[in-house]
Amino acid sequence: MMGEMMLDVKVTRAEAEVLGWTRFYTGEACKNGHTAEQYTSSGACVACAAESGRRSTERMRKKKIRQRAAAKAALTRRANSEKLRGIAHQRELMLFDPTTGNQKPYPSHAEQYREHHGKVAWLWNPWTGKRRTPADIGTDTFGELVRPA
Ligand SMILES: [Zn+2]
Repeated sequence: MMGEMMLDVKVTRAEAEVLGWTRFYTGEACKNGHTAEQYTSSGACVACAAESGRRSTERMRKKKIRQRAAAKAALTRRANSEKLRGIAHQRELMLFDPTTGNQKPYPSHAEQYREHHGKVAWLWNPWTGKRRTPADIGTDTFGELVRPA
């Protein structure tokens, strides 16, 4: 650290090089108006370099936020479109109760069944009467993606 923080000592870059200092101070303002030390290696203003570092960090942070939001929106769009496609196919009357697997569910219209029974897991495919797999139920508990066979 010897000699690096001697703010009051005004030297040229060439002198700083000879002295082996990593920074030097001329007392003159940089093009952005900072009266600050400069790096001996590049001649760059220390204050300018710090500002540019902060700006780039902020840009990266905002970019990451935008990328995360876009990825999330894409997932939501896909889920919604799959859900809508599934539900559109569920106009056909159900033959089996999606909760119990018994025949003649009430109501037998999928949308009405959901309104009537609320949030109950669809354990059976109400159109085929087959048990749904745990993985299937796990990813689509309320059977919105189940299609009539
Ligand atoms: Zn500057």
